[in-house]
Amino acid sequence: MTMYDVVIIGGGVVGCSIARELSRFQVRTALLEQCAEVGFGTSKTNSGIIHAGHHSPPGTLKGMLVVRGNELYDRLQKELGFSFRRIGELVVAQSQEEIEILEHLKQQGVEKGVPGLEIWDQKRLLREEPNLSHTLLSALHAPSAGVINPYELAFALIENAEKNGVVLKVDSPVEKIEYQKDRLVLHTPTKKLATRFVLNCAGVFSDKIAQMVGLNDFVILPRKGEEYMLDKRLQGLVRRLIFPVPTKQSKGTLIIPTYDGTIMVGPTAQDTFDRYDVSTTYEGAKQVFEAVKKICPSISERDTITEFAGLRAVSNTNDFIIGTTAVKGFINVAGIQSPGLTAAPAIAEYVCDILENEGLELIKKPDFKPHIPKVSHFGNLSVAEQKRLIEENASYAKVICRCELVTEAEINHAIDHGARTLDGIKFRTRAGMGRCQGGFCAARCMNILAGHTGQAIHQITKRGSGSWIVTKMENHQHPKTGKEV
Ligand SMILES: Cc1cc2nc3c(=O)[nH]c(=O)nc-3n(C[C@H](O)[C@H](O)[C@H](O)COP(=O)(O)OP(=O)(O)OC[C@H]3O[C@@H](n4cnc5c(N)ncnc54)[C@H](O)[C@@H]3O)c2cc1C
Repeated sequence: MTMYDVVIIGGGVVGCSIARELSRFQVRTALLEQCAEVGFGTSKTNSGIIHAGHHSPPGTLKGMLVVRGNELYDRLQKELGFSFRRIGELVVAQSQEEIEILEHLKQQGVEKGVPGLEIWDQKRLLREEPNLSHTLLSALHAPSAGVINPYELAFALIENAEKNGVVLKVDSPVEKIEYQKDRLVLHTPTKKLATRFVLNCAGVFSDKIAQMVGLNDFVILPRKGEEYMLDKRLQGLVRRLIFPVPTKQSKGTLIIPTYDGTIMVGPTAQDTFDRYDVSTTYEGAKQVFEAVKKICPSISERDTITEFAGLRAVSNTNDFIIGTTAVKGFINVAGIQSPGLTAAPAIAEYVCDILENEGLELIKKPDFKPHIPKVSHFGNLSVAEQKRLIEENASYAKVICRCELVTEAEINHAIDHGARTLDGIKFRTRAGMGRCQGGFCAARCMNILAGHTGQAIHQITKRGSGSWIVTKMENHQHPKTGKEV
């Protein structure tokens, strides 16, 4: 049985951020993820916003870590090359009472060090965002808010962590944890790992993981959020993230100009007991469109091209639960609801400090490599750049996804850098994210993946075990050739 210093349970943005941070040091680290790839939990189903930080109250852990997390994104993006842009955010007031809330949010942000906060009057608001409703009264502008492709972040973090020595094991659900003398032993269906420290980063399942070592001191109450993606023809409808004033439960229903130029609206905030329920609903859609039409009247449900839902891992304390426990070596990184994506890099620093205080020696690796190769998205390049790439590599001339202009070279690159499922290819390249939602490219991507991995076509999955796309037909003969297919 291999002995590690730290084993991380859960490969969402939080687990991957910690893995990458620990990979700076001479620490034997492994990450166990139950899905086929990292980032396939809540980390791929969110609004993709790097929050400025004025929403979360000071005095909470999430309030403290969000601003630091936001600051860390510029350096991270330079090192890892994921899609991230600071486009700024507006919280809009629809009534006199809401103007007072804007003042409160501004004050809260200033106290926490959020840069550049400014209240805009109606004239300025409508000059900057002419498609918003003319009934809006004013807005709080936060220039440091940004948009990101969150799955790209998780992939980049783990690729870099692995490059620096972290061991990643996917398809590895932790089923049992034993305490043996001075170490914890984790059991998955196929292996056992021993470690000094366990970091519980299991998202909506983190209370279940804590229960494996006999801890019952918190519960996760999943809160579902539905999101709706609109046709790309609406690109430019708004230039910044548009928020209503927040409610006690959530930051409200937002208009999100995503990194790739699609407009997304949502999320809802619906408590649920079902930790697997990522369905979208008629009621959810109704709620989302009613709310956003008040802010931007030209938005229509008829422009929806796809929809999804994610589960926030809300804890009974309504704050992040990060720290040591009564079980030596077992550390919770739980209850990471929004703004967990924003806070993830700061959570990683915070957890390293906890590990050091607990006696883990953090000696820097002299040969730490902070970068991974940058990927060029063919569709975003100028014609001259596209021609140059095709001259270097002819597979840039083979278009696989027509809606998003994704080439065979990019699919190959995604597979070489870890994609093992159709969703893994989609989230790395955008193949299948456009208007036809994979109708044209899914079979082509499957063929390329099968060719690279040596899998038969019926073994290819959408997102891991159980999500097969085609069935093998036993003894089926081609009607013309008579050959078995
Ligand atoms: C609708 C919605 C919108 C949001 N929008 C934003 C936003 O715009 N900005 C922001 O900052 N935050 C946002 N959030 C919050 C953010 O998405 C989360 O805080 C963040 O993704 C949490 O990351 P995580 O790594 O803790 O969890 P996850 O991504 O869920 O990762 C946990 C991982 O643990 C794995 N796991 C579970 N059990 C086991 C086991 N037994 N063995 C092995 N692995 C296991 C899971 O498979 C999963 O991959 C949003 C959340 C939702 C739901």
